[in-house]
Amino acid sequence: MSDTALGLLNRVFGYPAFRGRQAEIIETLAGGGEAMVLMPTGGGKSLCYQIPALLRDGCGVVVSPLIALMQDQVAALRELGVAAAFLNSSLSPQAAAEVEADFVGGRLKLLYVAPERLLTPRFLQLLAQARVALFAIDEAHCVSQWGHDFRPEYLGLSQLHERFPQVPRIALTATADATTQEEIRARLNLAEAQLFVASFDRPNIRYRITEKQDSRRQLLAFLRDGHEHQAGILYCGSRRKVEETAHWLQQEGYPALPYHAGLDNRVRERNQERFLREDGLIMVATIAFGMGIDKPDVRFVAHLDLPRSIEGYYQETGRAGRDGLPAEAWMIWGMADVVTQRRFIDESEAGDAYKRVASAKLDALLGLVETATCRRVTLLNYFGEAAQPCGNCDTCLEPPTLWDGSEAAKKALSAVYRTGQRFGAGHVIDVLLGKHTDKVSQWQHDRLSVFGIGGELEEKRWRAVFRQLLAQGRLAVDHDAYGALKLTDGSRPVLRGEEAVFFREVARAMRPSRKAQHPSETGAGGALFDALRAWRRTAAERHNVPAYVIFHDSTLRQVAAQKPATLGELAGIAGIGAKKLEAYGAEILQVVASC
Ligand code: ADP
Ligand code: ZN
Repeated sequence: MSDTALGLLNRVFGYPAFRGRQAEIIETLAGGGEAMVLMPTGGGKSLCYQIPALLRDGCGVVVSPLIALMQDQVAALRELGVAAAFLNSSLSPQAAAEVEADFVGGRLKLLYVAPERLLTPRFLQLLAQARVALFAIDEAHCVSQWGHDFRPEYLGLSQLHERFPQVPRIALTATADATTQEEIRARLNLAEAQLFVASFDRPNIRYRITEKQDSRRQLLAFLRDGHEHQAGILYCGSRRKVEETAHWLQQEGYPALPYHAGLDNRVRERNQERFLREDGLIMVATIAFGMGIDKPDVRFVAHLDLPRSIEGYYQETGRAGRDGLPAEAWMIWGMADVVTQRRFIDESEAGDAYKRVASAKLDALLGLVETATCRRVTLLNYFGEAAQPCGNCDTCLEPPTLWDGSEAAKKALSAVYRTGQRFGAGHVIDVLLGKHTDKVSQWQHDRLSVFGIGGELEEKRWRAVFRQLLAQGRLAVDHDAYGALKLTDGSRPVLRGEEAVFFREVARAMRPSRKAQHPSETGAGGALFDALRAWRRTAAERHNVPAYVIFHDSTLRQVAAQKPATLGELAGIAGIGAKKLEAYGAEILQVVASC
């Protein structure tokens, strides 16, 4: 075996160099050691087991929870000339039998298997007969019972080590927190595995978080501001909102598709398939969508409602820009989001321990949305990583103005107290503004000392004050009293004038952001890039694979920029390995020459 890891990277994958700790991980595994890899989405986990499988004798067995993901990975590997296959419920018994025969016969280098199939007596038997190069356990956090991706079948994977102790294993995940890490080690029997933690930074993603004012108008402004014709994901908090938003976007002329767990299976699968294969679709989804989606050219992920935690937010936004090109993570949030989430937690059937954890996670997330410092620094600190202000998030680009809201806070908290801690923000604000509404008359709140004392701020600003007081823990939501606002321990020092309170100035509505720049859209090469994309579409149809399996946007952009005239020049471009050069080189040169 004369090939080196770097040689394979260059020749088969067409990439010039390893990223981050890939080389070390590959070396560990190729030498028979075990590894546990924590790397953000898009970091390049797949190569960490694909290359060792190619370097070692036998076939690498990859456990992966999602069928769509397996199919894409296998299609991509075959395009590279690697003998790969998958076994899952989508195959006919006959097709599965052929794959099994190839596996045992030593004709495969990589085999992707669903966890429930891996542990059947039949497959364990095959494993005993075949030469296995390594086991890769992808999405290893699925073994964690605390996580939202828990897969009971993953618990059985510890058997692999017991039955095949000589076969090295690698567990990979994009979930970073320490608890999950320990659970993976313990449950998968990976105590000895060497730990590789990559930086979780995703420098090409621009983070922007804004208060909700008029969601739909804000969303339209966001889409029009440089995101037209781009593929993106819009996360909504509920199925109903998914449906409504998708429908409305379609009426506005956007190619939007809904996705949530309540949709008919076939519809859901078709929508996912279309999102993967077609260019420029918008997927409107609940968090049910996304795991195992490794579409590299998702240009934006937008949250129309507050996610549950920073982990969730980071995992969801991480689906943007896996190809390393500029991408945007955009979120709008409002007070109603906080109230809903608190109610979710309070009303859940789970025990107190869970509620405390969930509540602390929500607080951390509110800290992120309210931060006056760099979003990336806040995010990375949360994952235990030090960082410098990034220059690529909203607070870095347009530093928020802070204002001393001590007086306003005092008035707001007094009004909550005087009205009996029984009302939501809407009514309390009416009281502050001195509005004679029916409710005000009914409760005789126009007789209170706080009635009409808040004329210096308009309603919208009062909303922001209440939202931020909630985020800062100076107000709480009382779910035994239908979501009424109540005071907390954090309210007292403010009421007594002992602590100053600062608020972020509400962003001026819809300030246009600076557009994420795409090299070839701005400069020359735009027409050529379009022509290359059109060619790629036909090639993808011929091969019946998603377009990005043929070439990534980043590769086509480089072709458009460098305009290679010979196969030799073409071979120097990242993403064009030997096999693809042979299959497509001539066609690409023709497109370049004719444009
Ligand atoms: P993950 O599974 O960690 O989310 P992938 O393995 O899908 O990430 O890799 C993300 C993208 O980065 C893929 O398109 C992959 O081809 C690309 N990639 C991975 N490693 C390299 C590398 N060393 N050089 C260039 N591109 C790479
Ligand atoms: Zn920043």
